[in-house]
Amino acid sequence: MHALPEYDWRPLIDSHGRRHDYLRISLTDRCNFRCLYCMPAEGVEWRDRAEILSLEEIERLAKVFVRLGVRKIRLTGGEPTVRRGFMDLLLALHKAHPSIKSFLTTNGSSLREFAEPLREAGLSGINISLDSLRRDRFAEITRRDVLPQVVEGIKSTIAAGISTKINVVVMPGVNDDELGDFVEFVRDRDAQVRFIEFMPFAGNLWKPERVFGYADMRRVLDADFNLQPIIGHPSDVAKEFSISGFKGTIGFVTSVTDSFCSGCNRIRLTADGHVKTCLFLPQRTSLRDLMRAGASDSEIATAIRADLDTKWAGHPPMDNWK
Ligand code: SAM
Ligand code: SF4
Repeated sequence: MHALPEYDWRPLIDSHGRRHDYLRISLTDRCNFRCLYCMPAEGVEWRDRAEILSLEEIERLAKVFVRLGVRKIRLTGGEPTVRRGFMDLLLALHKAHPSIKSFLTTNGSSLREFAEPLREAGLSGINISLDSLRRDRFAEITRRDVLPQVVEGIKSTIAAGISTKINVVVMPGVNDDELGDFVEFVRDRDAQVRFIEFMPFAGNLWKPERVFGYADMRRVLDADFNLQPIIGHPSDVAKEFSISGFKGTIGFVTSVTDSFCSGCNRIRLTADGHVKTCLFLPQRTSLRDLMRAGASDSEIATAIRADLDTKWAGHPPMDNWK
């Protein structure tokens, strides 16, 4: 009898030649905030616990992705820190794959208690959402009055020596008058403030006129600051700049007016275990169902590769999406 051939664990390269080595794992669809641009005030109907991947299932899928060449894993959500055991998961991933860089994207509401353990868990970097430095406005945008806790959280991750990025979704008439204040926020702080264009997702009240684009952001900031480009990597999502005399740096995520699909290296796993090859494409295979039906690691890898083969070269221009 012939032995089955060994599965070919070559890297994840899609049909457009892009190597995918960055996995974003959504730990939960739940969140303790209700940001205007992301969730309705009344929340959404949360998925049943049984539908969500267990931490052990996430560990197993992470192992498969790492064998397929993933080198960077980001935990996100919903809000990842509301998932019980998220710290155990980070520790387990770090222990199983010490050379893999791990990252977290969070609303920062509970960071003060987590900053030191996160550093000990080997976290390479953290992105913290902060759309306003004004308490009343922050409360209007997130529908939670917790600005001081988030700012304390940011200070504590910087103090713990974790590479910290502050994500600001810029919206005209909402917070576009705070761009300069955010830049000042990183004058003496070792962090990057990232200005993000408002992106269209199902049901998030997006309209083209609600986008404050890169050109407008630069027009506002160039009047007061001398931004010097930092040369990055082709897969970087942000255009990055330094300012002489500033400890922190500035980034712009221009998904709407100047997308960066050609260098995309990201693949996503939803909280209920589906593959998503792009934020703007429907989810694909349920790896959860495959796993629960007894699939082997190589069968799971085959499904991931097949999904990646369907990835588009890029989303159409968003400027006039309705
Ligand atoms: N709850 C975490 C947080 O807020 O950081 C992680 C999940 S959240 C969906 C990830 C990032 O996406 C946040 O920085 C958030 O500001 C950003 N985001 C959410 N909806 C967006 C939209 N419509 N356009 C641009 N960025 C968005
Ligand atoms: Fe969405 Fe993150 Fe805001 Fe929660 S904190 S509503 S997941 S953007």
